Amino acid sequence: KKLNVALCGLGRYANILAKGLAESEYCTLAGIITGTPEKAAAWKAKYNIPDKNIYNYENFDKIARNKDIDLVYVVLPNGLHKEYTLRAAKAGKHVIVEKPMAFTVADCQEMIDACRKAGVQLAVGYRLHYEPHHLEIKRLGQEKVFGPVRLIEASLGYNLAGTPPDDWHLKKALAGGGPLMNLGVYCIQSNRYVLGEEPTAVTAQFGPVTMPELFTEVEENISWQLQFPSGAIGTSTTTSNCNIDRFYAAADHGFFELSPGLSYGPFKGRTSEKAFNFPVINQQAAQLDGIGQLILQGQALPSHISGEEGLKDIRVVEGIYEAARTGKRVALS
Ligand code: NAD
Repeated sequence: KKLNVALCGLGRYANILAKGLAESEYCTLAGIITGTPEKAAAWKAKYNIPDKNIYNYENFDKIARNKDIDLVYVVLPNGLHKEYTLRAAKAGKHVIVEKPMAFTVADCQEMIDACRKAGVQLAVGYRLHYEPHHLEIKRLGQEKVFGPVRLIEASLGYNLAGTPPDDWHLKKALAGGGPLMNLGVYCIQSNRYVLGEEPTAVTAQFGPVTMPELFTEVEENISWQLQFPSGAIGTSTTTSNCNIDRFYAAADHGFFELSPGLSYGPFKGRTSEKAFNFPVINQQAAQLDGIGQLILQGQALPSHISGEEGLKDIRVVEGIYEAARTGKRVALS
């Protein structure tokens, strides 16, 4: 048996996940939740989804009675992650929720508690934990292959010039913030898993607004500096006015880097000694397989993709925003 997955929200990333589901050994696309009847018809035909597994946002809670759906994958705009995670958990379904998990630590905790109470598993869509280049930088950092890492530079940005001003990524209620909310978790995550440490303090600065017609509600650019217990520093920028996608770690006896490194890839990387030579994989299929196999076996999901992990990233996000707003160094508990 494969794990029967329902995709909740049929936008751009859901289409990428559908390709991952098609390649997955342990998961299959069994249902959809969409507010657009035309999309329901198109997905039904393309993926052979039975009518009884097709929901809209109003009748979604009836999924509780549907034994043919095991897991709901929430791929909605960020501001809807919490509501649909809570509703899926209440319906007794396991949940994968896309990043960023939610806007606040309190909301993340509510989602974790709801899933625990319902007896369902909760994962955040952290695909890079299944990607070979990222598994390697995690190993190089945590095993101190080049000695302790002292400095990490990790930045991610996309030029959003030309984006329609009503795009949800620009709206505070649906996006929660600008590039920090949408892209920042990749920078924060890579810092945390390469060092194997939690940051203790942060300073941060908002960058200039160069597209005032778009950035009225959320930041266009933000840079921050994390301090870690070992003394390591993590410095990052997320931006909406240029394309950047890189990770660099400086250690005592060498370096390692990925560029492209934090997006979908295909990634390219090297150490101070040699180039990486890892295969390009379907990251979503690998992520779904990793999660699906464990749930089918009745095993707990690993902590690095858990709700608790999502919460730790949002704690850092909250600290970054506070530091940028106040201009002060913020201690992270
Ligand atoms: P998208 O805009 O392409 O899709 C969002 C979907 O939600 C659309 O189908 C839209 O119709 C639907 N929707 C339902 N209610 C809505 C509302 N009130 N307002 C706007 N849309 C509404 O966005 P996307 O790029 O697919 O992103 C969806 C989620 O996936 C986001 O949380 C994003 O951060 C995440 N994401 C993750 C990755 C990754 O690599 N893990 C990549 C891209 C996006």
